[in-house]
Amino acid sequence: MLRVARYWPGYSRCVVNEFDLIHSYFKELAPTAPGVLAGIGDDCALLQAAGGEALAVTTDTLISGRHFPERTAAFDIGWKALAVNLSDLAAAGAEPRWFTLALTLPAADAEWLKAFAEGLGTLARQQRIALVGGDTTRGSLSITITAMGVVPAAQALNRRGARAGDVVCVTGTLGDAVAGLRILKSTHSDTGNDARYLIDRLNRPQPRVAAGIALRGIAHAAIDLSDGLAGDLRHVLDASGVGADIWLERLPTSPALMRAAVGMERWSLQAAGGDDYELCVCLPPEAVAPVRAALDVPLTEIGRIDGRGGLRLLDASGGCVEGLTAGYLHFQ
Ligand code: ADP
Ligand code: MG
Repeated sequence: MLRVARYWPGYSRCVVNEFDLIHSYFKELAPTAPGVLAGIGDDCALLQAAGGEALAVTTDTLISGRHFPERTAAFDIGWKALAVNLSDLAAAGAEPRWFTLALTLPAADAEWLKAFAEGLGTLARQQRIALVGGDTTRGSLSITITAMGVVPAAQALNRRGARAGDVVCVTGTLGDAVAGLRILKSTHSDTGNDARYLIDRLNRPQPRVAAGIALRGIAHAAIDLSDGLAGDLRHVLDASGVGADIWLERLPTSPALMRAAVGMERWSLQAAGGDDYELCVCLPPEAVAPVRAALDVPLTEIGRIDGRGGLRLLDASGGCVEGLTAGYLHFQ
C-alpha cells in the first residue's frame, strides 16, 4: 500500500521493491496450510470459517510524514488509518466486523488522542466495525490496523479471475487525492472550494465497502486502488494472466480535478497517482448495467481485458501513451 511517500524526498534508497522483498524472504513462511483459502498476494487473506464463510484479514500501517503529511489533523489520521484497511476488505467483498489498533505515539497528548479517536470512531460506527484489541507504545507516530470481515467463501472477490472480454470498471473518481497532496505540498496555500474538496479526498477516503459486497460473486476480479491505477491493475493482470486496454479519456474525473489539471498532467495523476481507495473490477459486459443500478457510487467503464498480456494506456485516437509511471514502490 502506497503512498504519499513518492512525493516525500529522502527515502527509496534500496535496490529491491517491496514485492520482491516479500517474495524473497517471507513467501516460504507461507506454505499451503489447512484453512488458508487465500494467503499472500491479494488484498486480504481468506481463512476458512464455519458454514461456508471466510474470514477476510488485512493489515496496513500509516507512518507520519510518509503516508500522511506531518501536519495532518488527528481526526483525519484516525479516519484514514481505518479507511485504508476497510478498502482492502471492500476489495474482497467482505463485510467489516472487527479490528485491532497498534498505536505508536511520541507523547500522550489528550487533545490529539481525543480527535484521533473521534475520526477512527466516526468511520467505525459508519461501517459497523468494532475495535477488539491492540497495542500502545512510545515512538515516532505510526498506526497499524488489522481489520477482519466475513464473506461467503465462494463469493469472495480476488485478483486472479479476470478473463479476456471482461470490462474494466472503477468506482468513484480517480486522481483527486494525489491532486490534493500536490496542493498541500505547494508553497502557496490554496483555500478555495476545489482545493478543500481534493484535500478532503486525500485525508478522508470513503472505503467502497457496500460496492464490494454488491459485486460479490459477480466481478471476476477486484483490487482496491491504493498505489495508483496502472500499478494496481497490473497486479490483477499478472495474477490473472491477461492484459488490458485502458481508455484514458474515460477515466472518471471530479469537477474539481477537471479544473485543477488537464491533458497528460491529469492522466498522469489519474493513472499513476495513489491514495484513491476506489475499487477497480473486471466483470462480464452484461453485468455492468445491473451492477451499476445496485451501487451507491458511480461505476465507470474504463477498458477491456484481453488475452494478449500487458497493460496499454490509450489516448482518444487509440495510440499508446507511454511515460505514465506505474505504481509506487517502497524500496526502489
Ligand atoms: P495492499 O496494497 O492491498 O495493502 P500490499 O501491496 O501492501 O497490499 O501487499 C501485497 C501482498 O503482500 C498482500 O497480500 C499482503 O498481505 C502481503 N504482504 C505485505 N507485506 C508482507 C509481509 N511483511 N509478510 C507477508 N506478507 C506480506
Ligand atoms: Mg489493497
